[in-house]
Amino acid sequence: MINNSEIPAENNLIGLSFSSEQSERQDWVDNACHGLLTELAGGKEVEWNIEHISAIREAVQEIIVDELHLMTEMEFYPYIEIHYTAETCPGRPCSSGCDHISKITKFT
Ligand SMILES: [Zn+2]
Repeated sequence: MINNSEIPAENNLIGLSFSSEQSERQDWVDNACHGLLTELAGGKEVEWNIEHISAIREAVQEIIVDELHLMTEMEFYPYIEIHYTAETCPGRPCSSGCDHISKITKFT
């Protein structure tokens, strides 16, 4: 899914990382969401609040990805999927058939 050879070492966390293209896409989407807030607030300065930005991003993603099928979730806002086992699951003790998956969208 991720080609690790393209990943700069400084962005590497526990062996997983985003390509610079993916990081740029994430930043671009977040900036666009913040820009929308600022515009709709009549150009008033709006603080950078990742909860507000995520709320907009998730709503837009639902329309673009889930309803209109214009992009995949990965294209819209790249993520890394971590598949857990019963041994590695953060929700331990987990049932023997653990199939928990975490989607990591940013290393910040
Ligand atoms: Zn589990």
